[in-house]
Amino acid sequence: MYPYSHILAGFSLGFHHRRELRRLLDSTPANTSILELAPEVLFSSGIKALALDFDGVLAAHGSPVPLPEAVTWMKQCEAVFGGNQIFILSNKPTDGRRVWFAENFPAMRFISGVRKKPYPDGLKKTGELAGVPLSAIMMVDDRLLTGCLAALVAGARPCYIRRPYISFKTRPFAELFFWKLRFMERLFVRLI
Ligand SMILES: [Mg+2]
Repeated sequence: MYPYSHILAGFSLGFHHRRELRRLLDSTPANTSILELAPEVLFSSGIKALALDFDGVLAAHGSPVPLPEAVTWMKQCEAVFGGNQIFILSNKPTDGRRVWFAENFPAMRFISGVRKKPYPDGLKKTGELAGVPLSAIMMVDDRLLTGCLAALVAGARPCYIRRPYISFKTRPFAELFFWKLRFMERLFVRLI
């Protein structure tokens, strides 16, 4: 398959789901990070499994390990949902990250071998592995046109992380690129 087809899919699927994306953007406070998400509140609202993006959500872009505050938050999530109901759904599931999770959260699983977000394949696989309907899965992602859109396409719940973890000091060029990309996504969603 064409390696960047998921990017084109972001625009075409994004156009199709433009109203839901707009609603999501308008209803998400600008300071939303994972720390605003209380696992018990999510669970009692019907969420039974979590699909977590990595870059921007658990750490700055390209980091091999989650930030300490993200680790604390994931421990709270593990206590509420159970580690086997939490999945890492990143378009970059690197070996270093897998090793770290195997050592620190062995019950949590990486979703791989699927088409990249915004295709719904990873969330469908999450539903099969978790044994819950897609409507009971929350996809936590800092990108509107990849993870959040994948959730809308799959019929899962999107959670837009509007204030992602960023380290301009560590990876200035990559972070600037993604900072602009997130900005352009919001512009796209507002304009279409
Ligand atoms: Mg991300």
